[in-house]
Amino acid sequence: MQYEFTIQVSPEVAADPNELKNIVARNNGIPLEEISHIQILKRSIDARQRAVKINLKLIVFVQEDFINKPIELPEYPDVSNASEVIIIGAGPAGLFAALRCIELGCKPIVLERGKDVQARRRDLKAINRDHTVDPDSNYCFGEGGAGTYSDGKLYTRSKKRGDVHRILKLLVGFGATDQILVEAHPHIGTNKLPRIIAEIREKIIERGGEIYFGTRVTDFEIKNSEIRGVTLLDGSTIVTNKVILATGHSARDIFELLYRKKIEIEAKPFALGVRVEHPQHLIDQIQYKCDVRSPYLPPSPYSIVKQVRGRGMYSFCMCPGGVIAPCATSLGEVVTNGWSPSKRDQPTANSGIVIELRLEDFKSFSKYGPLSGMYFQKSIEQQAWRVGGESQRVPAQRLNDMIKGRVSSNLPVTSYKPGLTAVDMLTVFPEFIHKTLQDGFIAFGKSMKGYLTNEAVVHAPESRTSSPVRIPRDWKTLEHIQIKGLYPCGEGAGYAGGIISAAIDGEKCAEACIKVCR
Ligand SMILES: Cc1cc2nc3c(=O)[nH]c(=O)nc-3n(C[C@H](O)[C@H](O)[C@H](O)COP(=O)(O)OP(=O)(O)OC[C@H]3O[C@@H](n4cnc5c(N)ncnc54)[C@H](O)[C@@H]3O)c2cc1C
Repeated sequence: MQYEFTIQVSPEVAADPNELKNIVARNNGIPLEEISHIQILKRSIDARQRAVKINLKLIVFVQEDFINKPIELPEYPDVSNASEVIIIGAGPAGLFAALRCIELGCKPIVLERGKDVQARRRDLKAINRDHTVDPDSNYCFGEGGAGTYSDGKLYTRSKKRGDVHRILKLLVGFGATDQILVEAHPHIGTNKLPRIIAEIREKIIERGGEIYFGTRVTDFEIKNSEIRGVTLLDGSTIVTNKVILATGHSARDIFELLYRKKIEIEAKPFALGVRVEHPQHLIDQIQYKCDVRSPYLPPSPYSIVKQVRGRGMYSFCMCPGGVIAPCATSLGEVVTNGWSPSKRDQPTANSGIVIELRLEDFKSFSKYGPLSGMYFQKSIEQQAWRVGGESQRVPAQRLNDMIKGRVSSNLPVTSYKPGLTAVDMLTVFPEFIHKTLQDGFIAFGKSMKGYLTNEAVVHAPESRTSSPVRIPRDWKTLEHIQIKGLYPCGEGAGYAGGIISAAIDGEKCAEACIKVCR
């Protein structure tokens, strides 16, 4: 027999299967020797009280053996000779679109401007060490997209968008730990993601799909409002009538191209701010209300939202035990984001702290039409580059100094490798953003005692949280509202905000596109 229970236990008990068994037996009047196995379905941490607890959802096997069924991948047929779909971009949206195409019997041809995961590493080293930015190979561009060298957080608020569990199971099938199916806030880690991405690529190729790296799409062939082909950087053209456009929100050249070709796009509100780094032990002390974190607890994340000056201000993409990375995609700009390894064992915690921007905030960029938000975003990244010292050195300020509006007289070494330049953040941001961040941080400090400290360092800007442009599509067919056969997909099109939602949208676009192919 199997019984499902929810139980709250201490972190020590949650980590000890024997002790857990004892407690389950005792609490539920089940003879200990009759329990053959306890399977944990869900695990979450409740740190609201002084004593941190772990919530577990369990299945208890009583007088019945537990059979561990490994997660299996779907049957992927050979699609070498099947009808073709062009997918632009090998981020989560593009790769999961490709897998779904194969599952449904179509042949995906993936065109990716960047390099494969291995070759990409060299370019990431170069950004960190030499401050050089390859516009086709960086933290945002290349196999696996922007999510490859990330924390690999797989938590999404957008459960309504689709089957999150299905994507998690696929990731397990491609080599991720099955713990991502259990944890309430699953993550994979930068050290593990590239192997999983490579496994996905190998499966796509093994089943007859094709992937081309170093292949930047520079134009679309359009006739009678229908897509007829895509042009590559080398001038060659691929004839096609089905294109899934999954180029991410950093592909500004694609947004420019669509605008130039009078293909409808819209400016979209997005969020922007800074990335703040604290010592991890400080965040642990605040969140777990302790002097030293228990060895049974992971480095603590935090999540905070406030209304400040009539706008939402919130933590975004928080990386416990992580590192701040230089995520520019062009020369002449500075962009930050964060990653962490699977163990989250770095001594620092970083998080994007961003404020909501509205369309009226980009008014002074209105000459760029639907690209006004994108140009506003770009202007801040370029200003950060100038005040940072015309390199990948990031404008930085100690947190208390930022609130008080004074340039820090010195800065500690942070995890951001290219280095820091002490500035007043008012020289990076327009006044309304600066003031909102200052007030918001004060409000954060009231909710999280100890958060406001000069040990924390603010890095600027965190500007690529979501797309400043939407590529509108028909809600039913998922085709572009004006161009037949073009399927705007993923984060760049404005339909996703993270690895999981991008993967879900990739699958949806593949399904919509294949419905028409048949
Ligand atoms: C450092 C970092 C950490 C992050 N951490 C997390 C996290 O922990 N959890 C999370 O959910 N999200 C995280 N994100 C965000 C997440 O990576 C994105 O939301 C997600 O990757 C979007 O997927 P996508 O496929 O829509 O676009 P992208 O991942 O941006 O992929 C687009 C792909 O298209 C390619 N491309 C662009 N233009 C062209 C062209 N003209 N021709 C051919 N190819 C082109 C690009 O090279 C890129 O590979 C992080 C992002 C960064 C940068």
